[in-house]
Amino acid sequence: MSKLAKELNELAHKTGDPFEDLTILAEGNVAAYNAQKRKFLVKASGVVMGKSQLEDWVWLDLDPCVEILEAAEKQGSTQALTDQLNKVLHAGETPDGKIRKASIETLVHVVAFHLMESTWSLHSHPTPVVALASSTKAAEHYKASVFPDETVLCGPVPLFLKFAEPGLELGLGVYNGVKDYINRYGRNPGQIILGNHGLCTFGTGSDEAFATTKMAVKAARVRIGALSAGGISFVPDDMAEKIAFRPDEVKRRADLVADKTK
Ligand SMILES: [Zn+2]
Repeated sequence: MSKLAKELNELAHKTGDPFEDLTILAEGNVAAYNAQKRKFLVKASGVVMGKSQLEDWVWLDLDPCVEILEAAEKQGSTQALTDQLNKVLHAGETPDGKIRKASIETLVHVVAFHLMESTWSLHSHPTPVVALASSTKAAEHYKASVFPDETVLCGPVPLFLKFAEPGLELGLGVYNGVKDYINRYGRNPGQIILGNHGLCTFGTGSDEAFATTKMAVKAARVRIGALSAGGISFVPDDMAEKIAFRPDEVKRRADLVADKTK
């Protein structure tokens, strides 16, 4: 039995716990990358996170997914590339060798593995994040961070992306958005806010991805609280940069991630 599928199951069950309010029904998904095999394991389409079983995860090769994104970067989100993506998604293979369709949101994880050196990628629909991401001033609410631990764990500047249709268009939006972010800031985004949709966080382990999600949700609640109390006062950009990369804060990030959100 795949060890990775077991770890993915544990993270999916934590994420799908009703107490966390991160996903309901078949919302959200999670994936993990095996760099040696250049393959990743992702949730099969339609599976409820909190109830996933070991056979609900499918292996896909990274390279054919990257090829689709690179072609879409040049050609846009065409029907031919959508068909090509569907073909790839339908060829997912469970750890026990059955063929099942991978999640329609798979390309979001492909960007994390290809561009961001992450090996874990968690996508959820937390109510406070979706509320802000569906508001008329969503980009404004996410132009900077709001307290030091958001900066430390989720990065000094969130990446906010406008709504895109789940599938190729969403994957292309995240691909282009992350590339632009890396060009601008010289590092990866720690949290991606998908307009009218949800949240993406990453890590080199399941604990890091989950801890970052929890902090991003707290930061969303803080924004909503600040808005109800008259407006958001952001951490100044230069201060956020300083906090995020101070050696003691880098160590604290490691401690926060290791703190046992299990
Ligand atoms: Zn989603």
